Amino acid sequence: MIVLLILAYLALALAPLALSAAQDLPPRAVTDELASGLGMVALAILLVEFILSGRFRSISRPIGMDVTMWFHQLLARSALVLVLLHPILYSTWQRAEANDPTRQGFVSFELHGLVPGIISFLLLGAIVAMAIGRSELGYRYEIWRFLHGISAVAMAFFGVLHATRLGRYSQESALEWFWWAMLGLAVLSLLFVYIAKPIRKMTRPWKVASVEKAADRMWHVTLEPDGHDGLTYEAGQFAWANFGHNAFSLHENPFSITSSPTAGPAVSFLIKELGDSTNRIGQLRPGTRAYLDAPHGNMTTAGRTEPGIALIAGGVGIAPMIGILREMRATADTRPSILVYGNRHERQIACPAELERFARTPGTEVIHILSEPGPGWTGLTGHPDRQTLQALFDTPDRKRWLYILCGPPIMLDTVEDALIGIGIPSSQILSERFVYE
Ligand SMILES: Cc1cc2nc3c(=O)[nH]c(=O)nc-3n(C[C@H](O)[C@H](O)[C@H](O)COP(=O)(O)OP(=O)(O)OC[C@H]3O[C@@H](n4cnc5c(N)ncnc54)[C@H](O)[C@@H]3O)c2cc1C
Repeated sequence: MIVLLILAYLALALAPLALSAAQDLPPRAVTDELASGLGMVALAILLVEFILSGRFRSISRPIGMDVTMWFHQLLARSALVLVLLHPILYSTWQRAEANDPTRQGFVSFELHGLVPGIISFLLLGAIVAMAIGRSELGYRYEIWRFLHGISAVAMAFFGVLHATRLGRYSQESALEWFWWAMLGLAVLSLLFVYIAKPIRKMTRPWKVASVEKAADRMWHVTLEPDGHDGLTYEAGQFAWANFGHNAFSLHENPFSITSSPTAGPAVSFLIKELGDSTNRIGQLRPGTRAYLDAPHGNMTTAGRTEPGIALIAGGVGIAPMIGILREMRATADTRPSILVYGNRHERQIACPAELERFARTPGTEVIHILSEPGPGWTGLTGHPDRQTLQALFDTPDRKRWLYILCGPPIMLDTVEDALIGIGIPSSQILSERFVYE
C-alpha cells in the first residue's frame, strides 16, 4: 500500500514533465527548460498538498499521521524553494521579436499571466511563514486553520492561472486540462473535509455520557452513540472530536481513543487541559451533543505479530496506551507488555487505579518515571532516557517486540534515537506526536 501511494504521488508530481515532453516542442536553453520544469513540479506538489492534509484515512492509515504531516510540511517548503528558482533560472528574458508560436526564444511577461504567478508566490510564502511561526504569532488555532485553507485555495488557483496563461507547455494542451483537473481535485478535497464529512457526522451524532477527573488537569470523557451503532476502530487510533459545537464548526481537536473497541459502542478519551477548548472540557455536561470524525492514525497493534509490546508514554501520551492495554485485556492477548510512563509528579499519573490493575495482570509491567517526584517516591526518577530504555529493552527477545511511543515531540525524539541505538528496527516502532500543524 505504501509503495502504491509513493508511486501515485510520483506519477502526479511528475505528470506535467511527461505531458510537456509529449508535446515535442523545439528545445530551448537547458536553464529555460529547467525553470519551466521546476515551476510545473512545484505547482503539482502544491496541488497534491490538499490531499496530504492528514484528514484522509486512506493516506494517513498506512503511513501514520506524523509521517503524513511531516511530508505535508516538507513538500510545501520544498515547493517554495522550487518556485523561487523558477523565475531566476530563465535565461531568455527578452520579449518575442519574431513571430514564434513555439516560444522557443523568449519568455512571456504578459501581465494577465505574470500577476497571478506573483500573487500565488506571495501567498505560498505567507502560508509557509504562518505555519512555521504559528505559535509565535499567537492567534487561535481555528483562525489559523481557516486562513491556511482559504489562502491555500487562492494560491493554487492563481498558480494554475499563471501556468495556463503563460506556461509554454500548459496552454491549449492536455497539460492545461491536467492543471484544471488537479485544481478541481484540490477544491473537492476541501469540500469533502468541510462539507461532506460534517453532513455525514450529522447523521451519526454522539452525546456525552460522563466526564470524570483522571488526574491533575486531565479528564476522562465518555461518549455514547446517539441513535446509531457507534464506531469501528482499532485500539490506539484517534478521532477528531467536536464537543458541543455544530457539525460544521472548525472547533474540533484530535484525541486518542482510550476505550477498547471490543468493549461496546461507547468511546472514551483522556483529555488534558492545554488551551482554549481543552480548558473547558471539565465543564462538559452529560447529554452535550458531540461529533466524531474517526478513526484516524496507524498507531495500533491490530495485525502486528511481534511477540511483545512496549508502550512508552509521556504525559497525556498515555491515552492511546490505555486503549491498547484495555483491548489486550479484553481480547485476552497474552503477549508480554511493558508500559513506561513518564510524568513530572505523582498527581499527573492518569487512571492510577486502572494502571495498578494492569500491573497485576501476569505478563504486564508498568514502570513509572517521574522527573519531579514528591517526597516518599520509591520508583524511577528522571526521564525515559537511553540508559533506562537500554536497561529494559536491550535483550535479544525484546529487540523483536513492537514499540509504541506517544508524548511530547522532545521526548519522542530522545526515545526513538535510544531505541534505534539499541538496535530496534524502525519498522517495529510506531509513534505519534500530539502536534498537528
Ligand atoms: C494525533 C493526535 C492525538 C492527540 N491525542 C490527544 C489525547 O488523547 N489527549 C489530549 O489531551 N491531547 C491529545 N492531543 C493534543 C490535542 O489535540 C491538543 O492538546 C488540543 O487540540 C489543544 O486544543 P486547545 O484548543 O485546548 O489548545 P490551544 O491553546 O488552542 O492549542 C494548543 C496547541 O494544540 C494544537 N491544537 C489546537 N487546536 C487544534 C486542533 N483543532 N487540531 C489540531 N491541533 C490543535 C496546536 O498545536 C496548538 O498550538 C492529540 C494531538 C494529536 C495530533
